[in-house]
Amino acid sequence: MEHKIIILGGGISGLSLAWRLSSKGLKVHVLESESEVGGLAGTLRKDGYCMDIGPHSFFSDDSEIVDTVLELFDNKLIPKPREVKFLYQDRYLDYPLSANSVLFQMGFWSGVLAGLSFMKSRIMPKKRSSAIGEEETVEDWAIENFGEHLYRTFFKPYTEQFWKMPCSELSSRTIPTHTRMSFLNTLRLLLLKPIGKKGSSLIEREMLPTFYPDTGFAEIAERVTDAARDAGTRIQINSSAAAVEELPNGRVRVRYECEGELKEIEGSHVVSTIPLNQFVKILSPAAPPEVQASAKRLDYRSLIALGMVTEKQNILNCGYIYVLDRPYNRISDMNEFSPATSPEGDNILMLEIPCLRDSVVWSASKEELFDMCIGSLAKDGFLAPGDVKRLLIVKAPYAYPIYRKDYAQNLNKLLDHINGRKGISTLGRAGEFIYMDIDKCMRKAFDFADLLIEDQTGYGAI
Ligand SMILES: Cc1cc2nc3c(=O)[nH]c(=O)nc-3n(C[C@H](O)[C@H](O)[C@H](O)COP(=O)(O)OP(=O)(O)OC[C@H]3O[C@@H](n4cnc5c(N)ncnc54)[C@H](O)[C@@H]3O)c2cc1C
Repeated sequence: MEHKIIILGGGISGLSLAWRLSSKGLKVHVLESESEVGGLAGTLRKDGYCMDIGPHSFFSDDSEIVDTVLELFDNKLIPKPREVKFLYQDRYLDYPLSANSVLFQMGFWSGVLAGLSFMKSRIMPKKRSSAIGEEETVEDWAIENFGEHLYRTFFKPYTEQFWKMPCSELSSRTIPTHTRMSFLNTLRLLLLKPIGKKGSSLIEREMLPTFYPDTGFAEIAERVTDAARDAGTRIQINSSAAAVEELPNGRVRVRYECEGELKEIEGSHVVSTIPLNQFVKILSPAAPPEVQASAKRLDYRSLIALGMVTEKQNILNCGYIYVLDRPYNRISDMNEFSPATSPEGDNILMLEIPCLRDSVVWSASKEELFDMCIGSLAKDGFLAPGDVKRLLIVKAPYAYPIYRKDYAQNLNKLLDHINGRKGISTLGRAGEFIYMDIDKCMRKAFDFADLLIEDQTGYGAI
């Protein structure tokens, strides 16, 4: 029987999986709902302007993945320094948060209050949800590890601006480095290393060399696409999966909409990289009601990337800046990534506007979003209204899995159900409901391909 793998989604996970499978001899068909591949790692390209979906750069501690990506570019990608800042109450802090920032850049009295409040949280610990068998929340984690002062002035406002929900509702796993970040670690770093020196970071991954292609991050996905196509993969754009049906003969049928028509294909296995809560809805036979109820509790935070085309250069003097108390949570200067992302003389200042899909902001036009943001940009001295000659917009509905405090149990229920079905798997950031950068997506896709080849053929490769 033919071993044909159908992959839903042409983001970096689906494309990497397709590349590995087809280069080992399997037949692969990728369905991508959009008109371009790349998913979240894609780039909007219009009249010579290239804008990513939030600032992206490639970095990894996995040397095999680094080599794989660099080889796609004939080893011509040059590492660039990553320069990031955090604008906090009109002062710049180091990012990732450093000892210097916590104790000095936030202001003398803030440093004193932070120290006292941390000591209080140690002497009189708050009753934490994890102590009574519940998931630890961001609120519990931040107060225990940094004290009430830093929680109220720093972690709470930034986290809630970003996630659009209270810290008491979010799992501490929302902060990827939560197991390593604490006030004590910060102090330890301050005593061990000279103040402000690079390397006193709490987030080692942020210190890895970073790479960026000339004309947008999507070049990585595009080169993986070319490699997969060369190996025999069929990649179909504008094709949105609408139903995934298990057949009595053990095979799987996918119905999909393409240019207004409903079409279908059959294969031996389907791997979905589309948002998990959407995938559960299209399964046939339908998932039991309790699984569907869990799927409804898992959702994603959306993102709008608004690009302001301007002739101003070196606006931020760094790649990107995180900001607090603004309608956007991060701004980036595309020319700092690569000047070839705009026609000569132009630049794009990109704003990331966090929102939920049922909000007024999500449905706002680019002109309305411009009106919402330009006052803050002007006040901070970045751009005045007259500096902007054109607007670009990308809306990403499923950008960040929301780790609510009950997410782990709902996720496990869904994954148990899917893993129990024959010929169906999920993979990727949206597909597995997990924060991952593209290096991890590629690593997981390659490893999963090897397992799938063994499962389908009984051999390591065919
Ligand atoms: C703002 C932001 C900044 C980031 N910065 C970095 C960075 O600097 N470096 C880094 O390495 N990573 C970064 N990441 C993470 C990176 O973008 C993701 O890890 C990666 O792109 C996820 O790839 P994926 O294929 O798993 O998922 P996705 O990219 O979400 O791919 C899923 C695909 O499925 C398609 N799809 C959805 N529904 C259907 C359907 N019904 N039928 C067919 N297709 C469908 C979608 O169109 C999409 O193409 C960032 C992410 C964000 C949001």
